[in-house]
Amino acid sequence: MDCKFVPSVCPYCGTGCGILLQVVEGKLTGTLPLKSHPVNDGKLCIKGWNMHEHVNSFLRLKQPLIKMFGRFVKADWDETIDFAAERFKEIIAQHGPDSVGILVSAKTTNEENYLGQKFARAVVGTNNVDHCARL
Ligand code: SF4
Repeated sequence: MDCKFVPSVCPYCGTGCGILLQVVEGKLTGTLPLKSHPVNDGKLCIKGWNMHEHVNSFLRLKQPLIKMFGRFVKADWDETIDFAAERFKEIIAQHGPDSVGILVSAKTTNEENYLGQKFARAVVGTNNVDHCARL
């Protein structure tokens, strides 16, 4: 049986705990805390311990969905981004820039979070910016 442990960093929050990904026969099967990591010193929270489960979950969204006539319809990324951009423009034109907001995420990099707030303030024209850690 081919089994290996791949060191990595938990993607669930900005703490950045060290983890070992257990890979059996090429498939991700488990997560262990990295004992030698200076951030978590061999500990993980419940999200970290279970972070491998979503990778192979049948519930995982693998492509964007657009809600049409009350139902979610699969779409490609270009179509989805165009759709969101058009709806943003329509809503902002009708109700003003403070009628929308931008939510950023702990699961993205600092740079991506910076871009999110920059997009909100410089492009959309709103200070309605929030982060999933506060939700
Ligand atoms: S294990 Fe928990 S505290 Fe550590 S990075 Fe992951 S989510 Fe954050």
